[in-house]
Amino acid sequence: MAGAMVEAELATGLGRSRDNRFEMQSQCIAARKSHADAVRARDGTEVARPCPACARTTDHRRRFRVNDCDILQCSSCGLGRTETAGFDPAAYYTSDYFSGRHADGYSDYLGAELVLRREFARSVDFIRKYRGTGKLLELGCAYGFFLKEAARYFDVTGIELAAEAARHARRAGVHVLHGMADDATLRAIGPLDVVVLFDVIEHLPEPRETLAVCRRQLNPGGIIVITTGDFGSMAARLTGARWRLMTPPQHLWFFTHESIRRLAAGLGLVVEHVDHPWKIVPASLIIFQLRRMLGLGRATMASISRCGIPLNLFDAMRVVLRAP
Ligand SMILES: [Zn+2]
Repeated sequence: MAGAMVEAELATGLGRSRDNRFEMQSQCIAARKSHADAVRARDGTEVARPCPACARTTDHRRRFRVNDCDILQCSSCGLGRTETAGFDPAAYYTSDYFSGRHADGYSDYLGAELVLRREFARSVDFIRKYRGTGKLLELGCAYGFFLKEAARYFDVTGIELAAEAARHARRAGVHVLHGMADDATLRAIGPLDVVVLFDVIEHLPEPRETLAVCRRQLNPGGIIVITTGDFGSMAARLTGARWRLMTPPQHLWFFTHESIRRLAAGLGLVVEHVDHPWKIVPASLIIFQLRRMLGLGRATMASISRCGIPLNLFDAMRVVLRAP
């Protein structure tokens, strides 16, 4: 769980690098062929699952299998879901996640602080177009870089699952609670004007329940700002199982415009804005990904963590939901 808008770029090529390793390790063409047949056989079959966006049980189509997880898609709203057993977020989102020691995590989050904060300052400007001031909560705030920028205009609080990241933010003077966003924690924080989930909702085991908890604390006219991948985007549809954000079990959900709209409507929220914003991404992140795709080892990237590169693949969306 990251609290950073650059996370979309991080996952680039994960599926591809795993496939490459598979290719390299496999000496047997027949084994590869039977594996491909097995994948094809699973594709297209339908099963019933409760859809958190539609808020009812719907038919789900098996789309593909990635990292030993089945990826299903709601036939009604298009929401993708990861079927996995035994994924423990608390065991996964540790300091390793932010420092390049997880293949699906961040390359050098702390070293990229300057680039990230420049990007987060732009996010604050964006949010202020919809709500200029008041109490702001960020779920999955990592080291608190966004909150430091937001604190210039808002009374800020963060919730972060990675204990070391939460400690780091607190040492930097940011009000960050360690743990999950449950009802008791949100009630203790009090009424909110802005709730921010940057590349976080796709990681939540119960996205509808978590948003409902936030919704209950939202003042009239308050907003929830979400960034997440767009499963309905051209890039996602063209690349399928190899989409850069198709990284289960880290990503549990793959939202579309329609699934966001239904999820919001069911919680009494109005979709006020949707776009696919440009982002400034740390160069170290892009190189981290390229090296992984090419099967190269990790490199020290402190010197280039400070460089930012504008990037937009139009497959990640930014959504503003408003409480009437
Ligand atoms: Zn649905």
